[in-house]
Amino acid sequence: MKLSSKYKYLFEEALEKCSLRPTKQREHIFSLILQKKDHPTADEIFKRSRASMPSISLATVYNCLESLVESGLIRQVNFERESTRYCPNLKPHAHFLCKKSGEVYDIELSKPLLDQITNALPSEFIAEHIEINFNGLKN
Ligand SMILES: [Zn+2]
Repeated sequence: MKLSSKYKYLFEEALEKCSLRPTKQREHIFSLILQKKDHPTADEIFKRSRASMPSISLATVYNCLESLVESGLIRQVNFERESTRYCPNLKPHAHFLCKKSGEVYDIELSKPLLDQITNALPSEFIAEHIEINFNGLKN
């Protein structure tokens, strides 16, 4: 699977900044995650990737995911007692896990709201990463 020229540029640039090579496998995994933005787990990505790249191994998938996270192209989403999921939405947002369907939704966070949350930290704390997760039911 190939990336569109817009994402191809983003992909190559992000990896290059981390001194990582834009391999075919990494491109393939990234394009799969962009194609269906349903916050898949590594196992799900592995299953999807084999349809168009039958020779890929689970270890390679994990390796690709690690490089993509490291270069900031995707982020990890962790819910308690759940496998790590992957999200290509780079805008600040929270996640909502529906406990009935098991689906994960992106919840947009406005800049003022995000600033407000960051400002809640006492000055001696410097946040490098904020993760906001909701659990519940979606009607
Ligand atoms: Zn997301």
